[in-house]
Amino acid sequence: MTYEYFHSKDEAAQIARAALPLANKYSLPANPIIYAVFYEHLSGQNPELSEALGDKLGDSTLLSNENIRDLFHSFISQSDEHAVEVMRIALGSLVENTHSSLDKMDGETSNYQDYLSEATNMLEKGLNTDPKALLHSLLEQTEHMQSATKLLQEELDVARQEIQDLRNEFKRVRHESLVDPLTNAKNRRAFDIALDEICKSSVENDWPVCLLLLDIDHFKNINDSYGHGAGDAVLKWIAKVINDTVRGSDIVARYGGEEFTVILPKTDLNGAMSAAENIRQRISEQRLRTSTKQIGRITCSIGVSLYNVNEGYEALITSADSAMYRAKQAGRDKVCCAGTH
Ligand code: GH3
Ligand code: MG
Ligand code: MG
Repeated sequence: MTYEYFHSKDEAAQIARAALPLANKYSLPANPIIYAVFYEHLSGQNPELSEALGDKLGDSTLLSNENIRDLFHSFISQSDEHAVEVMRIALGSLVENTHSSLDKMDGETSNYQDYLSEATNMLEKGLNTDPKALLHSLLEQTEHMQSATKLLQEELDVARQEIQDLRNEFKRVRHESLVDPLTNAKNRRAFDIALDEICKSSVENDWPVCLLLLDIDHFKNINDSYGHGAGDAVLKWIAKVINDTVRGSDIVARYGGEEFTVILPKTDLNGAMSAAENIRQRISEQRLRTSTKQIGRITCSIGVSLYNVNEGYEALITSADSAMYRAKQAGRDKVCCAGTH
């Protein structure tokens, strides 16, 4: 299994061009995973994948999104990031290819210009004895130029569409890999990336960073009493309340099942405590209901901690977690601060 591609720009662009129509032929979305599988197959560098895919190409019912995803994970990569990388390469090849079409056109244009100047020269100096032949050749050259221009226009239209499609897919995958689909909050991965960036920046710029860790109280009861659907709706609602309460520069993420975190850059413990208290209040003051039943009041417990560069991120999270645990022990629907008892 190799992740390196040794194709020339033209070869890569040719494979990239063939991959999209193949996905279309089998009515599959040209998402990066499917794209990567077809790219890899068409490039001929992954014989095991081609063999497994070959069995399915004859029977389009076997070519579902899920089947292709399985092939991707078995024969290409464990991570969706690889698909993004393949798309990046494909996109690069298409751009290069379009560039070379333009270069070619540049050559055609300059040949045509040379020809026109030569013809003008001959006419001015009366060098041409046969104006009919000159006109004929001029017409021929112009027609050639016209068809070259038309071809380039078509090539550019196709390339523009391909680049647009790839760009949309690229954006979608990037977005999906960082967002929790239920609540639309950032996921754990996005949280880790943001925490790393924000903490580094806080050290460089000497401003404080705080973390909130929020856990819904007795959430299991909501699922048990009103069903999983109601539980999901509560999770979405909590994410929205947190998002609507904190500042735009704060990072809200779903940390796990019914736990959320908020990273608060440029915020000291006092500021973070009041942000947490606002969230707690806004959640507990609402009375929720399903379409048929009253759920009533939902509460949450929140732990707050301050980043200390000497202790690292892990300590920031575990301190917020212990503070949250103390809030639970103190009767729930509380905010507790790390380091204070
Ligand atoms: P505590 O006050 O101590 O936090 O009690 P709790 O019931 O909230 O805590 P516990 O950890 O016992 O239960 C968490 C529940 O969250 C159990 C799990 O089924 C539920 N849960 C986790 N993820 C989801 C989800 O995506 N949707 C729904 N509906 N429930 C979820
Ligand atoms: Mg929990
Ligand atoms: Mg809970």
